[in-house]
Amino acid sequence: MIEIVRIPVLSDNYVWLVHEPASGETVVVDPAVADPVLAEAQARGWTISQIWNTHWHADHTGGNEAIRAATGCTITGPAAEIERIPTLDVLVGEGDTVSLGDVTADVIAVPAHTAGHIAYSLRGERAVFVGDTLFAMGCGRLFEGTPDQMFTNLQRLGALPGETAVYCAHEYTQSNGRYALVAEPDNDALPARMAEVDAARARGEPTVPTTIALERATNPFMRARDAEELGRRRAEKDGFRG
Ligand SMILES: [Zn+2]
Repeated sequence: MIEIVRIPVLSDNYVWLVHEPASGETVVVDPAVADPVLAEAQARGWTISQIWNTHWHADHTGGNEAIRAATGCTITGPAAEIERIPTLDVLVGEGDTVSLGDVTADVIAVPAHTAGHIAYSLRGERAVFVGDTLFAMGCGRLFEGTPDQMFTNLQRLGALPGETAVYCAHEYTQSNGRYALVAEPDNDALPARMAEVDAARARGEPTVPTTIALERATNPFMRARDAEELGRRRAEKDGFRG
């Protein structure tokens, strides 16, 4: 059974440290920075053997170089973004798999937030690392892609088993939820979820990971009927101050 540890860094980023005890391998997903990640691994007696990047943004790759220098780890990331992530050792894309000991991750191409964005789905573990594509009650901004692409991404992620834990790279849940209440005023599942989220945040607790089932019930982007509705909601959220 793998262990997954959340490392909060910068203003609202989550870096994920994943340890597979049988092999002793440890992977860092999207290290924005190096020092807190190295410190967390050391405190647990884990040696970082890999880094997996979901996309090129600096708050997902900024720690690559220093973590590799300290540990000699291998850095895997999207082949389509090699020019933006020169630190990559292993290039992957749709249909490829990556291993962490005996645990296999399927690489899923989810372009839209960035053109080469990928997700890592640990099918056997019911866990998926989605970077900035899917958030609790939200989705990533469409910096390098279209509503059509994001609609496809969220339909694909939404087809994973409902109990799959979704490891997002940011704590955006409260802001997303405030918009979700406006986008879907008749969704009875939303007020209850928001009450839980507000209470958790008031206690200083994280709201990530979420689950695919919870997102199917409360995420206005995953629940959009078509790409047009998703695009309209994404544009509204971009300008939303709630
Ligand atoms: Zn990003």
